[in-house]
Amino acid sequence: MTTLLLASNNSKKIGEIKKLLPNYIVKSLAEIGCTEDIPETASTFKGNALLKAQYLVKKYNLPCFSDDSGLVVEALNGEPGIYSARYAGAAKDDDLNMDKLLKNLDGIENRKAYFTTVICFQDGTEIHYFEGQIHGTIGHQKRGNQGFGYDPIFIPNGSQKTFAELSDQEKNANSHRSKAVAKFVEFLNQQ
Ligand code: IMP
Repeated sequence: MTTLLLASNNSKKIGEIKKLLPNYIVKSLAEIGCTEDIPETASTFKGNALLKAQYLVKKYNLPCFSDDSGLVVEALNGEPGIYSARYAGAAKDDDLNMDKLLKNLDGIENRKAYFTTVICFQDGTEIHYFEGQIHGTIGHQKRGNQGFGYDPIFIPNGSQKTFAELSDQEKNANSHRSKAVAKFVEFLNQQ
């Protein structure tokens, strides 16, 4: 089986991605002993995904992929966007991030939002991107305790439940990340 290095330290996300790539050995940063903070200083999801993958390919000389994701809220001009993880500050606290978002949407009728993921894959010579989105709305309070991040306040279109009220399997059936990973897998299978 081919080993792929995944530029992430988010254990829940790593778990989700490993389940989506059963035919590969996916190694996280922790598993290869990389503890440093990788720069994410670009102004787009694509730019950040590129920075992370580039950094690791140079350092470890292994095929590597990164994913940069976030929540884009229409009525907030795309916030929190690339700042999703640290919306309420450097502590990257999911509850504080959700509280801030709910407060900023207080009294606003348009609750439309989408999650987006950009995967950047680099093998040392080529660079490829794969994207996925899921559209939905932001609820008025947190519900559920599955998943991570903004899951308790995101209700995908066609569902009454938040992402955090769905099992991993139900979330992965349609999530932004699984759509991007599916395109990535299709690409890997053609190699
Ligand atoms: P990352 O680039 O994938 O690390 O995502 C940045 C931030 O976006 C995360 O820290 C979460 O706050 C949010 N996010 C990304 N994907 C998801 C998801 O599937 N559910 C909930 N929040 C997410």
